[in-house]
Amino acid sequence: MSKGNIGVTSDNIFPVIKKFLYSDHEIFLRELISNAVDATTKLKTLSSVGEVKGDLGDLRVRVAIDKKKKTLTVSDHGIGMTAEEVDKFINQIAFSGAEEFLNKYKDKTEAIIGHFGLGFYSAFMVSKKVEIFSQSYKEDAKAVHWSCDGTPEYTMEDTIKSERGTDIVLHIDDEFTQYLEDATIEGLLKKYCKFLPVEIAFGKKKEWKDGKEVELDEENIINDVNPAWTRKPADLKDEDYDKFYHELYPMQMDEPLFHIHLNVDYPFNLTGILYFPKIKSNLDVHRNKIQLYCNQVYVTDEVENIVPEYLTLLHGVIDSPDIPLNVSRSYLQSDNNVKKISGYITKKVADKLAELYKADKDEFAKKWDDIKMFIQFGMLTDEKFYEKAVGFALYKNLDGKYATLEEYKDQVRDKQVDKDGNLVLLYTNDPDAHYTYIERAKAKGYDVLLMDGELDVHAMSQAEQKSEKLRFVRIDSDTIENLIKKEDTAKDTYSDEQKEGLRKAFENLLPNDADKLKYYVTCEAAAADALPVFLTQNEFMRRMKEMSAHQQGMSFYGQMPDSYNLVVNTAHPLIQELVGKETSEEVQEEVEKDGKKETVTKTVYTLANEDERMKQLIDIALLASGQLKGEALAKFVNRSVELL
Ligand code: ADP
Repeated sequence: MSKGNIGVTSDNIFPVIKKFLYSDHEIFLRELISNAVDATTKLKTLSSVGEVKGDLGDLRVRVAIDKKKKTLTVSDHGIGMTAEEVDKFINQIAFSGAEEFLNKYKDKTEAIIGHFGLGFYSAFMVSKKVEIFSQSYKEDAKAVHWSCDGTPEYTMEDTIKSERGTDIVLHIDDEFTQYLEDATIEGLLKKYCKFLPVEIAFGKKKEWKDGKEVELDEENIINDVNPAWTRKPADLKDEDYDKFYHELYPMQMDEPLFHIHLNVDYPFNLTGILYFPKIKSNLDVHRNKIQLYCNQVYVTDEVENIVPEYLTLLHGVIDSPDIPLNVSRSYLQSDNNVKKISGYITKKVADKLAELYKADKDEFAKKWDDIKMFIQFGMLTDEKFYEKAVGFALYKNLDGKYATLEEYKDQVRDKQVDKDGNLVLLYTNDPDAHYTYIERAKAKGYDVLLMDGELDVHAMSQAEQKSEKLRFVRIDSDTIENLIKKEDTAKDTYSDEQKEGLRKAFENLLPNDADKLKYYVTCEAAAADALPVFLTQNEFMRRMKEMSAHQQGMSFYGQMPDSYNLVVNTAHPLIQELVGKETSEEVQEEVEKDGKKETVTKTVYTLANEDERMKQLIDIALLASGQLKGEALAKFVNRSVELL
């Protein structure tokens, strides 16, 4: 037997390991199993080049709990280690690496989370003593037994071990007895080892028989050694991708909409499968996340800096040995490889969407409502993605027909260009509330888009910025004649003074709560068959208010009161009748003209506003846009009955 001190400078580093890694101590199992898998893979490689002869035999990695001895053992039949190798890899190098690592991240506990690199020594996070029993594959090598109780002192001696490979025996600390529970270990294995390339066995398979759970003879294999992303796309059918999706997310009932198989080996290594999920509600959005693997070892499901933000809503896996895992998040953002990876994923996703769109436009349109949010989000945040996505981003009209912006522009260009050459696209976000406006637009032969998505307002602003002479206008933002102004529209025959009298009379009757709600009144000749009085809401102000709800720095707009225009339609017979009831008087008024004061005579029109019909007309306008409520609505109903 030999004794020695592990090559570290600090007296006892194990308390440090325990303390700093406290929040993440479960990763010890991932580290030990990764080592076991590596040792097995190395053996296979040596065998394939003829350096190891004969049949390799059973290569399963096994995890076992002994509750009486309070041990957890990870065993492999890999290459094993000789005494010299244990000395070199465990006593010296590995530990100096661990010390360096701890020094570097002492102040940043969170940076340690999700790291790789502490390796074998992470076993001391949960153990009071760790033993290694190893038999190297090398001929004539003696088996070695190494033991260390958490001080820098270790012992090493020859031993007898019948099988090639390594057993790592952890004597679990009294504080961490949860790691002696089958359920805990099985849970961790499922989390970290589900797709490792070597079979991992834990206990026996169980089955329900006559209401009891019974153990079978067969070993319980935790992992799928050939997960779909490691296979060639040509060898996989759609069903295989769907099956793998459910393997990844056993609780997810819905089928994904479609998948994208990623596969690059230059200038970085990356494989994976991304799925577009069906999102039913916002709650779903972050339930299942993209999982990041490193050579089939699970690392994390926090991929924010590796995948562009809008794609974090997707599901699936990414596996890359080239993503630096043992560094902090801010470093990750500036890492060149990571930037390239993110760019590659963007391109691949965009190309796949373009391909799906080209292959079957109707099928793509059917999926559009489900994928619209990802695509708009991507177009708004990533210029490169925008450039590709304009070719397949769709707009849907009220008849449920879909078209790209370019296609749609061509469809409506005939009718919807105004006198200044602007192409005006009409939309609604609420077809029920805008029913009357929509009917009038349709009567004119105009088409109306349905834009009721969360990001639609932003998407429209972006489209306007990107194309000249294009405007989106919500259907209720002006009279139909003004929405798309053709050559100057018909005027009424009334004088400005007459209209001012009419305007004031209506204004006096309107409820105005300056802080929250403001109504402006204008008199315009709309069509004779339009409503006598109706409300419109300015497109610009409304959009600014809507956007301010999502964006910082725009709160100024958010604080403005909601404002509406009450249009009094002077082409309507009922309004013409009211104008006829105006009384006029001549008033003298002093005005300044060329620096001199002058007295002029003006005709002022007034309309007595006790006319119940005016109140009725205002209420009808409010009602038509869903703004008549409570007491005002009750009054309207009563008044209507009286008038009848
Ligand atoms: P890393 O795995 O990152 O190199 P570790 O501290 O986990 O660091 O392991 C150090 C070295 O010890 C490994 O590189 C390997 O050579 C050796 N080793 C660890 N576990 C085993 C094992 N189960 N079988 C064979 N060699 C092992």
